Amino acid sequence: MPLNLSTAVADRFRLTPPQKDALRRLGIVTVKDLLHHFPVRYGDTVEARAIESLGKGDTAVVFGKVSGLKASKGWKSKVAMADGYIEDETGRIHCVWFNQPYLAKMTPEGAFVRVEGKVSERQKTGELYFSNPKIEVVNELPSGAPDSLFAADSAKGEHNLYPVYPESRGVSSAWLYHNIQKLFKAGILDELEDPLPGHILVRYHLPNIRTALIWIHAPMKAEDAEAARKRFAFEEIFLIQLARQKARAEYRADPAYTIEPSQKSVGEFIRRFPFPLTGAQKRSIDTILRDFANDRAMERLLEGDVGSGKTAVAAAAAFAAVTTRPSLIKPDGTRVPQKFGNLQVAYMCPTEILAVQHFESFIQYFSYLPIRIALITGSGCRVFPSKVNPKGWTDIARTQLLQWVANGEIAVVVGTHSLIQKSVVWKHLAFVIIDEQHRFGTAQRGRLVKKGEIVPHLLSMTATPIPRTLALTLYGDLDLTLLDEQPAGRKPVITEIVYPTRRAETYEKIRAELAAGRQMFVICPRIDEPDPEKEAAVIAKSVKEEAKRLKEEIFPEYEIAVIHGKLKPAEKDRVMNDFKNGHIHILCSTSVVEVGVNVPNATVIIIEGAERFGLAQLHQLRGRVMRSTYQSYCYCFSETTSEKSVDRLNALKTAKNGFELAELDLAQRGAGGLAGARQWGVSDVAMDALRNLRLVEAARAEATRLISEDITLAKHPALAAAAAEKDAGMHFE
Ligand code: ADP
Ligand code: MG
Repeated sequence: MPLNLSTAVADRFRLTPPQKDALRRLGIVTVKDLLHHFPVRYGDTVEARAIESLGKGDTAVVFGKVSGLKASKGWKSKVAMADGYIEDETGRIHCVWFNQPYLAKMTPEGAFVRVEGKVSERQKTGELYFSNPKIEVVNELPSGAPDSLFAADSAKGEHNLYPVYPESRGVSSAWLYHNIQKLFKAGILDELEDPLPGHILVRYHLPNIRTALIWIHAPMKAEDAEAARKRFAFEEIFLIQLARQKARAEYRADPAYTIEPSQKSVGEFIRRFPFPLTGAQKRSIDTILRDFANDRAMERLLEGDVGSGKTAVAAAAAFAAVTTRPSLIKPDGTRVPQKFGNLQVAYMCPTEILAVQHFESFIQYFSYLPIRIALITGSGCRVFPSKVNPKGWTDIARTQLLQWVANGEIAVVVGTHSLIQKSVVWKHLAFVIIDEQHRFGTAQRGRLVKKGEIVPHLLSMTATPIPRTLALTLYGDLDLTLLDEQPAGRKPVITEIVYPTRRAETYEKIRAELAAGRQMFVICPRIDEPDPEKEAAVIAKSVKEEAKRLKEEIFPEYEIAVIHGKLKPAEKDRVMNDFKNGHIHILCSTSVVEVGVNVPNATVIIIEGAERFGLAQLHQLRGRVMRSTYQSYCYCFSETTSEKSVDRLNALKTAKNGFELAELDLAQRGAGGLAGARQWGVSDVAMDALRNLRLVEAARAEATRLISEDITLAKHPALAAAAAEKDAGMHFE
């Protein structure tokens, strides 16, 4: 069997079913995946102590074999615990873990482990033991030398780095290490072609692919591992950028409608809003109008906190489009403006509820103009104005609506994903607005326009606050506009971090709000019973359980409903509608459902297990109650006692906006701190590198340059293949 990067791991190694499952969970299918499964960190055996040398009060690291590990209950306290022994060639020591009985199941008998913690002494017997030490299964030794080498090496003060890999039950860090080494010995490195062009390696002092793989899996020194990580981070960000810059260049190869409304008419439209625009809104509209004046499509991301007024910006831009006459484009490329008809606007929303909401606001904004507005969702279509009632809308058959869209009679169509189905044909689609979606992928664009046709301007809007470096990477093909100003007069949400002792009094405060007719969201960390092995240490309440508890113990007088990802879409819509209509007073939900929904009467949000969320995510959840003229409250319930977590949560009270919190998340928690990062397809190594603005900017500049010289990357086939592969592995929504 030839060995190459695409060889399946299962064909190369004999695997047990649990190992197969574990590899699948880790996302490892091919040899390449295995080689790119990088250590999370490196242990250093120089820190190891001989067990016989330990004394009371020492904080120490020992390596040894586990024996007799078992789960039990403390005989007095009845606390769930685990205990067992660690043994090296100099002796053995007892270890006790409280509240972590699952450790006993996770650590196999006889496993070689690293234990770190504080040494205590039993009063009666004088026996030494580790109390709640950190424990992890490790490779016996990176060099494969016998255990006794540890003592010798440590004595000499020689560093011996060993990789610690992300593991999954069935596949240990040691297994990963040994099998990666086997691949090296079998010559896999000779198979590799470096996708990064030589001049880039030289310019940024990056190791080539072979060196980097050796350095990351078996470094001689920490600096080598660091250099290798930097290389892989650069490569990944560079590849993402290449794909994005290529998409941008391709999108701009075709012409767009030039939209040039008179300043006066836009000004009049804006003055009809029932509020003065914020400075940020004005600036955004100006920027968009400048983009519109081009004959190449705008591709812009409008990023603004919930409530910053993105819809008004979108409406002003839509106004500019629908009041512009289409032009005919002659074969030689010249344009002849028409005296009739109008350009069309598509407004795409992630849910039906949001689509209906925006359909209604657009009717308000546009009702004084002689244009028609439609709604298309999975459950039906509407058109405004209705023939019988010129002030209202009416239901309409989909086929009729599609006809009117195709002949250009309808200027604005609001809808869900059903907007971009093939059956929807446009006459003069000039502008597409995408609301509350991370991005609008190449695939969706492809469904809106055919090659060689006029492409629409794109405005993507999101309330997801992400750090600048991540935006530059993920949205490399979009220009970025920040709406970093809240409308004047908004009452900031009163945010409190609530510890267990203050739970009861907080519920009473909330009861007063509910009694005054307000409504509340309760956000739970997860919906199912938590996996006891991973989550036992954390108190996680399922949505259903929490709803039941609130109904039975706290708020029996109110209607309480649940909403979570396992409900069918129709069911979700029903619950959300009941909540909007006020039939439901308290809505228990997971953190992922219905981010953009507007329920102004909901003024209280409880977030359970707040310390388990990123700050930016907490901020977004808080945004659900930011839409009211009433005073709103956000209660972050937390059981954390760690000072660091408390400080972190307190940033919610002081930070000016979501972007600041996103940057804090990145700085403090790194890769893991950004909600959803992994689901986008960005690796931990690259996420870590996002703390490094210079690296990201360098990768972006190199990618932009390369694409401008050679859009198909014809001169760099390995790079082109790698970029295409990376792009296919990204998930933007
Ligand atoms: P988001 O950015 O979250 O999409 P919306 O566009 O839904 O925000 O606006 C939230 C609310 O704020 C709406 O009720 C809208 O009418 C109102 N609003 C928007 N801009 C302003 C403004 N400049 N001044 C006051 N209220 C505004
Ligand atoms: Mg919105």
